[in-house]
Amino acid sequence: MSGSDTGGRPEEGIVDDRPSLAVFGRTADAWFAEHGRPANMSLSRSLDPAAHVAAARKYQRGLHDAGLAGITWPRQYGGLGLGAEFQRAFEQAARGHETFGDVFTIGLGMCAPVLLALGTDQQKRRYIRPMLRGDEVWCQLFSEPGAGSDLASLATAAVADGDGWVVSGQKVWTTYAQHSDFGLLLARTDASVRKHLGITMFVADMRSAGITIRPLRQATGDQEFNEVFFDDVAIPAQNLVGAPGNGWRAATLMLMNERAALAGGPISSPVTLAAVTELIRNRGRQDDPVIRMRLAQAYVAQRGADLFAERIAAQVAAGDEPGSFASIGKLAAGRVARQVAALALDVAGLDAIAWDPTEPDGSLWAYGELYAPSLSIAGGTDNIQRTILGERVLGLPREPQPDRDTPFRELRRSP
Ligand SMILES: Cc1cc2nc3c(=O)[nH]c(=O)nc-3n(C[C@H](O)[C@H](O)[C@H](O)COP(=O)(O)OP(=O)(O)OC[C@H]3O[C@@H](n4cnc5c(N)ncnc54)[C@H](O)[C@@H]3O)c2cc1C
Repeated sequence: MSGSDTGGRPEEGIVDDRPSLAVFGRTADAWFAEHGRPANMSLSRSLDPAAHVAAARKYQRGLHDAGLAGITWPRQYGGLGLGAEFQRAFEQAARGHETFGDVFTIGLGMCAPVLLALGTDQQKRRYIRPMLRGDEVWCQLFSEPGAGSDLASLATAAVADGDGWVVSGQKVWTTYAQHSDFGLLLARTDASVRKHLGITMFVADMRSAGITIRPLRQATGDQEFNEVFFDDVAIPAQNLVGAPGNGWRAATLMLMNERAALAGGPISSPVTLAAVTELIRNRGRQDDPVIRMRLAQAYVAQRGADLFAERIAAQVAAGDEPGSFASIGKLAAGRVARQVAALALDVAGLDAIAWDPTEPDGSLWAYGELYAPSLSIAGGTDNIQRTILGERVLGLPREPQPDRDTPFRELRRSP
């Protein structure tokens, strides 16, 4: 098959070579049947980091070349310009598989939507296509040692310097910074206004002089996230995303997309319900009424979370922002991950604590238990999601914020 019949990526300049929905669906089914990687199984536990990133790049390149990446995104930036129904067909074909190489979750799931919404034409032309092709990895440079849940307290400063900016400060928990080409950075550009108003977003070239990246080891043993130090890093004016002082709006948009990505994306738990069901059968525990009850509870919760994630994905594909609703999906995904990991641990028993090193899945259950709590922290903790839901979805009174109107430079901060 070739050309439009394949549902493949159209050449630039060709007016209408878009595939029919049926052809697109068949292309997606065939691709996932042949190349699809099971969801959640590509986490770094099984590979050394370089091999992990290389595998994710290859997977993403495969999706791109088959005409299955950036489905609803504009064609002039490398997307396919197709409707939400094509995105739904893709999600259906991809069910149970990764929808993009997981190292690209931050770029494609979080950075690209922000660049598409707020970036300049030049930024979209420069950055979206290489991301879709699996060529360039992105990270999120938001959290700092003194600014996590209270992100608006961030202190990394960007000072105007001639045509550009000079950035100094420290970020932390920056996932995949060590593999990244670029990152979306939040920095304070005005300390004389209240904290939410003085923040600006930039594209940071991770290979710039003055950036130092130090990997941190997680409870799982992986080194996915990092400390990132900025020492007088020069950022050119064209790397500004939106206007100076509009960084909070950009950050909020990115966090909504992060919650939507975490609700249904490939960085959900490595221990899947299917794997636990198989474990229960292998251990002959399928008639144990307590195990059956816990499995049924996890199944119902997982199904609810999946349907919710699909709803948000459809909303995004139709051109809407994920909205505060995404917090429900993110809360649910974290809860299901903990539920399923705990069930696996109980069924595996001692084998989850001291496993046979020759068994390929030997460490999976321990890994799942150690990994699951992170889903209730990354992208904003469960407590923060509940506050968002209370205030913005249920319309409950806002939490008191005594420092809300104080200029940032007058706030009391730890040294
Ligand atoms: C796996 C993983 C990957 C991550 N990747 C990235 C990344 O790529 N880029 C990035 O920028 N960040 C990343 N993070 C950081 C993440 O966003 C922060 O850890 C998170 O926002 C919480 O911030 P904190 O760790 O500073 O905790 P804190 O804000 O210090 O919170 C500590 C505790 O206090 C509670 N708390 C704080 N404020 C309130 C409140 N107002 N109401 C109720 N409870 C409250 C919290 O719920 C939590 O239990 C990652 C984190 C994890 C776990």
